Amino acid sequence: MRADDLLRPAHALAQRGVRLARLALDALVPPTCPVCDTPVEAAGLICYACFPRFRPIAPPVCDACGLPVRGEDTPPPICPACASRRPLFGRARAVWLYGGAAKDVILRLKYADREDLAVPLGWLMARAGADLLREADLLVPVPLHLRRLVARRYNQAALLARAISRVSRIPVAVDALRRTRATPALAELSREEREASLIGAFAVRPRWRGRISGRRIVLIDDVLTSGATAEACAEALLAAGAAAVDVLAAARTPPPSADAA
Ligand SMILES: [Zn+2]
Ligand SMILES: [Zn+2]
Repeated sequence: MRADDLLRPAHALAQRGVRLARLALDALVPPTCPVCDTPVEAAGLICYACFPRFRPIAPPVCDACGLPVRGEDTPPPICPACASRRPLFGRARAVWLYGGAAKDVILRLKYADREDLAVPLGWLMARAGADLLREADLLVPVPLHLRRLVARRYNQAALLARAISRVSRIPVAVDALRRTRATPALAELSREEREASLIGAFAVRPRWRGRISGRRIVLIDDVLTSGATAEACAEALLAAGAAAVDVLAAARTPPPSADAA
């Protein structure tokens, strides 16, 4: 699957003549839409129903939290929420607003044994986070708690980090962070409760400290929600001496004012 195709409607690629080259493979493995499994013309294409259900994040975005803002792109804008309280991480970027087809594809990666989807998602994330990756020394995925890792078999953030590493050639420290304890499901908590539940919830493994110290880290996650988890991870990495921590996610929860997906 070609990641660039995820942002392109089916007819665009057909026009580029890629279709013929894929006919042989497609005859063996009939291609389907990665979001809904509807048959499509060639591997990597999004079907016509799913394509408009993605909401890509386009500039200008808040330089800190990465949410879309009104106005000019330069100088880098800061949204009112970040102006009153800057997150512990430096900058966050994501490919899409969470919801619609972005939610569907991320849930498939997480729960439906669709590990293959990490590859195109990694490509798109590398593109959305190009500014961050240009300055980065190391990628670190947000860890799953061991109990969830056993239940789910793989950590989707680690899969995404490996995929981004292959594109960007920035090394990945898959197990640099660990969860010190299980944290409650954050979705039902208020911002204050989330922050309280996450204090000290992550730590840098001692053997990674030497490679974290002085380095610019890009933290990788599938979805950035309130940013509380990313901030707790950033806190642990900064405490271990990281020079900077930025965040790159496949999707981020839209602000309350944005239209529901
Ligand atoms: Zn579809
Ligand atoms: Zn912001």
